[in-house]
Amino acid sequence: MYVEFDRDTCVGMFQCVAEWDAFEKDLNDGKADLNGSEEESEDLFVVEVPDDEELDAKFAARSCPVDAIEVYEDDGEQVV
Ligand code: SF4
Repeated sequence: MYVEFDRDTCVGMFQCVAEWDAFEKDLNDGKADLNGSEEESEDLFVVEVPDDEELDAKFAARSCPVDAIEVYEDDGEQVV
């Protein structure tokens, strides 16, 4: 399972931070940061989700009011 985070879309509401430790507040930018992620293209960050954090990652994605977080199975099927 992996997460795609569209940091350009993020408006810094920080619900995701409360749901999954991988997200941290960046108060300077007014955006979240996704720890351990790689920038796949401009402002699109991707990270593998550890097995025991899958629920948290899904909750984080569902909590985002602007749908900046998407969750995918390894075969590319979108989960959230
Ligand atoms: S919940 Fe969405 S808008 Fe809020 S900080 Fe997280 S990614 Fe950004």
